[in-house]
Amino acid sequence: MEILRYDLVILGSGLAGLRAGIQAALTSKGKIRIAVLSKIHAMRSHSVAAEGGIAGVLYPEVTGDSFDAHAYDTIKGSDFLADQDAVELFVKLAPEELRFLDHLGVPWSRTPDGRIAQRLFGGMSIPRTAFAADKTGFFIMSTLYDNILRFDNVDIYHDHMATSFLMENGVFKGFTVLDLKEGTLKVFLAKAAIIASGGAARIYGFTTVSYAVTGDGAAMAYRAGIPVKDMEFIQFHPTGVVPAGVLITEAARGEGGYLINKDGERFMARYAPQRMEVAPRDIVARAIIREIMEGRGFIHEESGLGYVYLDLRHLGEEKINTRLPFIRELAKKLVNVDPVYEPIPVRPTAHYTMGGIHTDTYGHVMFDAKNYVPNLWAAGEAAAVSIHGANRLGSNSLAECSVYGRLTGEAAAKYALEASSSMLELSSSLEEAVKREEKRIFDELFKTETNAEDPYQIRGELWRTMDTYVYVFRDEKGLMEAGRIIRDLKNKYKRIRVDDRSRKYNMNLREAIELGNMLDVAEIVIVSALARTESRGAHYRLDYPKRDDVNWLKHTLAYYTPEGPRLDYIPVRITRWKPEERKY
Ligand SMILES: Cc1cc2nc3c(=O)[nH]c(=O)nc-3n(C[C@H](O)[C@H](O)[C@H](O)COP(=O)(O)OP(=O)(O)OC[C@H]3O[C@@H](n4cnc5c(N)ncnc54)[C@H](O)[C@@H]3O)c2cc1C
Repeated sequence: MEILRYDLVILGSGLAGLRAGIQAALTSKGKIRIAVLSKIHAMRSHSVAAEGGIAGVLYPEVTGDSFDAHAYDTIKGSDFLADQDAVELFVKLAPEELRFLDHLGVPWSRTPDGRIAQRLFGGMSIPRTAFAADKTGFFIMSTLYDNILRFDNVDIYHDHMATSFLMENGVFKGFTVLDLKEGTLKVFLAKAAIIASGGAARIYGFTTVSYAVTGDGAAMAYRAGIPVKDMEFIQFHPTGVVPAGVLITEAARGEGGYLINKDGERFMARYAPQRMEVAPRDIVARAIIREIMEGRGFIHEESGLGYVYLDLRHLGEEKINTRLPFIRELAKKLVNVDPVYEPIPVRPTAHYTMGGIHTDTYGHVMFDAKNYVPNLWAAGEAAAVSIHGANRLGSNSLAECSVYGRLTGEAAAKYALEASSSMLELSSSLEEAVKREEKRIFDELFKTETNAEDPYQIRGELWRTMDTYVYVFRDEKGLMEAGRIIRDLKNKYKRIRVDDRSRKYNMNLREAIELGNMLDVAEIVIVSALARTESRGAHYRLDYPKRDDVNWLKHTLAYYTPEGPRLDYIPVRITRWKPEERKY
C-alpha cells in the first residue's frame, strides 16, 4: 500500500478547491507541499458548468449597491436561516475575490466603458452578478487551473477518489484514496485538509448536475462522526429543460425572459408581483409546480412531465447571441428549440445543496456548536457555513466558493506551516482502518453472488423516490414512504455486485462507491425533512405550510448512528436583520 504524506491535502478541484490551493500556495510561499485530489480530471469538476455569474458589490458609487444590500438580499433570500455574521463577512470579501479573479485573467463580459458587466439575478435588489457570457464557470475554472499549475509545490492528482476519512480520537489524519487509473488503494496523510468536494444533487434523477456530484464529502464526514447541517434544504432551480433536467440559467430571466403558462399568462404576477420572474428560486419553483398542478401547464408526451414555457423571443437575436449564446446552443441541441423563435419547455430541477459539512464562520469543520474537528476545513458546496440558509440566491455560490476557498486555503496553510511532521505517522489503529476500507472496497463491493443486487437498479429507484417524494412540495406521508424505500435500498446495497472485474479505470466500482454515499445522503435529507414540521425556503411541507420561527429558527445537525441519522439542533446567528415575512 502506497502512503503519501502532505502538509495540506485539498479534496476537490472545483472552484473552491482550486482557489484554496492557490491561496495556500501564496500564503506558504512554497514552504509546504500541497496535494489536490479529484475523482475526475480536475477541469471536469462541476464548477465548469456554472453559467450565469458570480455575485459581488463592485461599483457602489456608480450603481448604488452596498454590502448591506447584498447581505440583506442574501439573508431574506435564505428565509432568515443564514448565519448573519458569516453573510456579513462573505459580502465584504466577495468583491475582493472578483478583483482577484480579474487579475488572474478571467475574461469578463464588460460594459462599454470597460467595467466588469453585472446583471440581475433572482432575489437580488440590484444587478450585482458579474459574468463571462453564460459560461462563467468555465472561464473562471480555466483561469484558476492555468494559475495553479504555476506552483511547483502543488501536486494535482486526477482520477483519485477519496473513499473514507482517517480519524483517530476525533482528530482528522487523512484519507483512503482509490487511484482509479491503477485500481489501487492509497493513503494520503495530511497535517491539514480542506474538503471541497461539491454538492449532492445527483441523489435526484431530474437534476442539473453531472453524474459526479454525489455528496461524497458529506457522506464520508458523516460516517466519520462529523455532522452534516441543514440537508433538508435542496434547491430546485425553476428552469430545467424538459425532459433532460439540464439547466437554463437564471440569467435568461435576469436578462428579461418571461415564464408563461398554457394560457399565455406571465403567471409570476400571482406569486411575486414586484419581482416577477426574478423572485428567489424557491418561490419561482413553487409557482411553476402550482401552475402545473392546477392545470395551467403543459404535459410532455414521452416523459409525462408537466412544464411551463420560458420565453426569450422578445429579447431578440442579438441579445441572445451576446448574453446567452450557450442557452441558445443548449436548447437547440437538447430539445430542438431555437429560443430566438420558440419558447423553451422548463420545470424545476434539483440543483444545489444548501446544507453540507458543518463549519464555523471561517470554514473550520465542527463537531457541534463549540468543538472543532482538529486539522479540518471545508469550503464551497460541500460546506454549510451557513450563508445560504434555507434558499441560496443565484450567483452567490461561485462567490462563496471563491471567498471560502481563499479563507480556508489561508487558514489551513498557516496551520500546516506550524504543525509538526510527527502528525504524518500511520499509527497501528489507522493501519487497521485502512485494512477495513480495503476489505470493504475490494472484497465486499467486488464480491460476486448469484442473485446479487444490480447497483444501477438501486440508483434508478433512489432517483425515482427522491423525484417523487422529496421534491418541491413534501408531506409526512411521502417522506415516510421515501424513508422506507431508502432503508430497503440500503439493505439491498449490502449485496450489490460490480459487473466489471478489472482494476484499471473501473467506472462500475466508482459508481458503486458513489451509490453508497448517495444512499447515506438521501437518508439524511429525508430524515431531516420529516423532522422539520414547517415550511422555510426550499423546504416546503404541504402539511405545515407556514414558517415557524418559534420552534424552527435553528440549524439541523445530522449525526451518524448504525440505525440511521440522529438529529440535533443549533441556533441561527442573527446580528442585524430580524426575521420578517418574505414578500417579493
Ligand atoms: C449547471 C449549473 C450551473 C450553475 N451556475 C451557477 C452560476 O452561474 N453561479 C453560481 O454562483 N452558481 C452556479 N451553480 C452552482 C455552482 O456551480 C456550484 O455550487 C459550484 O461550482 C460548486 O463548486 P465546488 O468547488 O464546491 O464543487 P465542484 O465544482 O462540484 O467540485 C467538486 C470537486 O470535488 C471532487 N470530488 C468529489 N468527490 C470526490 C471524492 N470522493 N474523491 C476525490 N474528489 C472528489 C470532484 O472531482 C471535483 O473536483 C451552478 C450549478 C450548476 C449545476
